[in-house]
Amino acid sequence: MAKYSIIVPAYNEEKSLHFFYDAVTPLFNGLNEEYEIIFVNDGSIDGTKGILKELANQDKRVKVCNFSRNFGQQAALLCGMEHANGDAVIAMDADLQDPPEVALEMIEKWKEGYEIVHGKRRKRKGETVFKRTTAKLFYGFTRKITGMDIQRNSGDFKLYDRKVVNAILSMGEHDRLLRAQAAWVGFKQTCVEFDRPERIAGASHYTVKKMVKLAEAGVFPNTDYTLTLPIKLGLLLGFASVACFIAFIVLALNGIAFGGLTAWLFPTAGALTAVVLVCQGLANIHTSMIYKEVQNRPKYILSDKYNLDE
Ligand code: UDP
Ligand code: MG
Repeated sequence: MAKYSIIVPAYNEEKSLHFFYDAVTPLFNGLNEEYEIIFVNDGSIDGTKGILKELANQDKRVKVCNFSRNFGQQAALLCGMEHANGDAVIAMDADLQDPPEVALEMIEKWKEGYEIVHGKRRKRKGETVFKRTTAKLFYGFTRKITGMDIQRNSGDFKLYDRKVVNAILSMGEHDRLLRAQAAWVGFKQTCVEFDRPERIAGASHYTVKKMVKLAEAGVFPNTDYTLTLPIKLGLLLGFASVACFIAFIVLALNGIAFGGLTAWLFPTAGALTAVVLVCQGLANIHTSMIYKEVQNRPKYILSDKYNLDE
């Protein structure tokens, strides 16, 4: 019999928690398998903590971690994963925008052998044009710059097999975007599609500042593009300057007048700038290597072993 851990980040969710509990528990009770719900109270300043204490008192399957302040949804998900002991871990928002019946579909996929199941949004109710546009741009840009297959139109509503959770927990970095890490670890992945409803109560907590922070955590730990950019620009500028010199020499040898001595300043300045950019780029490659060491990700991740001890 499998055990499921539902992990739920909650920040000022006093209005939605009872709805969430009342929607999720009957569905999971119906499975006749073991489960736990781990709420991570992300430094809420409303009645969230009191409600969670009440729920935990009346139901031992409800477990609660209270953060000392607001650390953000990604940190809350990490905390949930660290405390989960299920064979499969399902991350869900507290506001019922991740429909619990879709979690059951995810479990079906998991039973078929998939190790990560993404909740993929078909329609997104109640989201502003701004949010939808920035999300689209973010996924397009991040997929391109990191070269990783980050699922489009999926947030953090996902099911992770125990192996995947262990792999993600072995990634040492501080700034995390779980959906990018889910792309990095590999494993057998699939999606279930759903229409995302509006939140059951309250309002979204995602300010532009929080969205920018999330985007940074998706990009910078996953690519050295920005660090290697100067060397690429430097080489480009270097080639352009050399081509310019050659053109000027050819023109001069053929006695064609072209702007005199000052014109030579352009390729000269270009060549010198190219040298600076290339040197900067070389130093950046070193920085990138140091970052990878500090980031301390596993060098590889196993999916299975044969004839070796598990
Ligand atoms: N959340 C959190 N910490 C935060 C912001 C949000 O734990 O700093 C939780 C929130 O309570 C909810 C989930 O993360 O369970 C998604 O947040 P929200 O619904 O505000 O985001 P949206 O659905 O609008 O993207
Ligand atoms: Mg929401």
